[in-house]
Amino acid sequence: MDFEATLNYARLLDQEDPLKKFQSEFHIPQKNGSPVRYFTGNSLGLQPKSAKKYIEEELESWKDLAVDAHFEGIRPWFHYHKFSKEGLCKLTGSKPVEVVALGNLSTNLHLLLVSFYQPTTNKHKILMEAGAFPSDQYIVETQVKFHGFDPNDSIIELKPRAGNDTLETSDILDSIEQNKDEIALVLLSGVQYYTGQFFDIPSISKHCKKFSIPFGLDLAHAIGNVPLNLHDDEVDFAVWCSYKYLNSGAGNTSGIFVHERHAYSNIRRFGGWWGHNEDSRFLMEKGFKPMDGADGWQLSNVNVISTSVFLASLDIFDRAGIENLRKKSIKLTGFLYFLISSIQKIRSITPDSPNERGCQLSLVIESGIGKQIFNSLMNDGLVVDWREPDVIRIAPVPLYNSFEDVFILSEALKDNL
Ligand SMILES: *Cc1c(COP(=O)(O)O)cnc(C)c1O
Repeated sequence: MDFEATLNYARLLDQEDPLKKFQSEFHIPQKNGSPVRYFTGNSLGLQPKSAKKYIEEELESWKDLAVDAHFEGIRPWFHYHKFSKEGLCKLTGSKPVEVVALGNLSTNLHLLLVSFYQPTTNKHKILMEAGAFPSDQYIVETQVKFHGFDPNDSIIELKPRAGNDTLETSDILDSIEQNKDEIALVLLSGVQYYTGQFFDIPSISKHCKKFSIPFGLDLAHAIGNVPLNLHDDEVDFAVWCSYKYLNSGAGNTSGIFVHERHAYSNIRRFGGWWGHNEDSRFLMEKGFKPMDGADGWQLSNVNVISTSVFLASLDIFDRAGIENLRKKSIKLTGFLYFLISSIQKIRSITPDSPNERGCQLSLVIESGIGKQIFNSLMNDGLVVDWREPDVIRIAPVPLYNSFEDVFILSEALKDNL
């Protein structure tokens, strides 16, 4: 893409942006009397203005209907987990039976590993990326130990080639093939939280299928950021959270995907009453009979007050359209990439190709002054984030960031060097 490095040009791109109107649907924090330019939607998305209305509606239902709100009112609570299915299908490329909103990411990943990590004496290894998000590392470590194995033997970590920042798809595929007789599970992120690398999900999934190895994904940094096709890609399972690109508030309801081919199977799992067959749930009988598909992994009834915010957020995604968002995102992050490419002493560790990244660019500032630059950006109301030892992560989010935001940020980076 050809860009120009001027403020006027950035403003022109904003004028032409069909998604520009969505910015006004979010609350933007203020600093020194003006709105910040917010580049950390990859960490905690902004609050949709509609969130309050959705919460208030549930408080009203509770106030006016109390227990009857399970079957009456604006969104009857008994069916609450169904109201997000359509939105989740669009974001993940799934069928309704394959997705459900529930719980929290780390808890859900443990629950799905109960089902999809079934190690044996010879086949007990988990292949994952080195430097995965800490929670994922702890989850895998403790799962391996739970099954009586040693994490040093049972975890294979994929590392970039010497001198590279990110993984080559061919190296991932080779590593799967070389260890195929010992691998019980491949678990990767969709978009890597540190480097911003968007993995080649279809190729990796196909390779795992070839060797009958279950393939799971942590989509915390992918959902709402890049379009996904989990059903067609034949991923076995996936988890995500809703407070990053999905703008639903810290710790809010997360979700899972379980491929349709497991929907009617008797796969091992931990059960709870909300995963039990809905028609006989209130008979309170002995004998767990799971719901078909992802719903069968639910344990508890839905946290309706906070999940209402998730519905508010999905409504915005539905109107904007994930494909349209991706189109803008490629241009917006492409513009940032273009602008920083001309700045010496800044190096992006995120892949150069738009197909291999989402919104985020992870920048290393050479000569060890990264932290100082981070602090001065923050002082100027440019909200970015700092990851030890030397990375500034910047995520221009197509729902609420503008081309002007990106231009102003790149000027500030230049001025501080
Ligand atoms: C944000 C994030 C998490 C967070 O887990 P929670 O259970 O929601 O606290 C886990 N894994 C990855 C890859 C993340 O990016």
